[in-house]
Amino acid sequence: MKNFLDGIINRNKYICENGKVADYIPGLSSANKNHLGICVIDNDGTLLKSGDSEVKFTIQSISKPLTLMLALLDRGEKYVFSKVGMEPTGDAFNSIRKLETGRMRKPFNPMINAGAIEICSMIKGHSGEEKFNRVLDFFRLISENPNLEINDEIYQGEKETGNRNRSMAYFLKGEGLITGDVEEVLDIYFKQCSIEVTAVDLAKIGLFLAKGGVLSSGERVVSEHIATIAKTLMATCGMYDGSGEFAIKVGIPSKSGVGGGILSVVPGKMGIGVFGPSLDQKGNSIAGIAVLEEIAENFKFSIFN
Ligand code: GLN
Repeated sequence: MKNFLDGIINRNKYICENGKVADYIPGLSSANKNHLGICVIDNDGTLLKSGDSEVKFTIQSISKPLTLMLALLDRGEKYVFSKVGMEPTGDAFNSIRKLETGRMRKPFNPMINAGAIEICSMIKGHSGEEKFNRVLDFFRLISENPNLEINDEIYQGEKETGNRNRSMAYFLKGEGLITGDVEEVLDIYFKQCSIEVTAVDLAKIGLFLAKGGVLSSGERVVSEHIATIAKTLMATCGMYDGSGEFAIKVGIPSKSGVGGGILSVVPGKMGIGVFGPSLDQKGNSIAGIAVLEEIAENFKFSIFN
């Protein structure tokens, strides 16, 4: 398997050339577009990695299914889905248009920016700081990495350039979907996007989901149902407007981020973390998708098989 992973990384590395790194903030545009790494952890805890699996990058949109689980713990399913839908949009992750024109009158799902910002408004705590610290602690818990921290340069960049996200948050406030302080909610969102992880951290989170919400110690953190909600939304909406094609080509519930990460879950079997900051036009890791395609085909991992 280790040789197989090395082979996959080597075979797909050239694909990095075909994409480009996110360039909306300096902290992301300075990424090395030729980085490509993977980590897999199977059910019995065997961890294998290859390529740039120890390079740190920001979690970005991969934070969305994680904070969703915390919101579901805090507020329950009924409340959460009264304010955010469960349907794919077919639009870009930062699209605004369906917010007003869509029939739903709420963000379509928690994997797009508007939905994820809405989810941030649901996290419990007495102050913005306490709320974000609960998010960070939750990420640390399920990645089994107590050292996760924010990349401050990227956080500042997200905050300075995040006017599109800001506009959506104020719209949601206007619609009565966000209650409370909008800037505080946005700050939680910008901070959660700026948490640094490696492919190894993502594989650990993947295994946590693969086991239905259980840590390697056997401790249950979320109910099986909450883990299933996260995995299902990853399968239907996790790769933005590329989710349908990805479901056919790979068929493994996954969530991408513009930092170049992909979190993948083979239910009951394995957690996979991939890192490759060279992105395709939809904002997904271009070589990372190719790597997952090869793994899915080789091991018949598509959940639709
Ligand atoms: N920080 C990014 C944004 O809000 C996260 C989006 C992403 O990873 N697709 O636009």
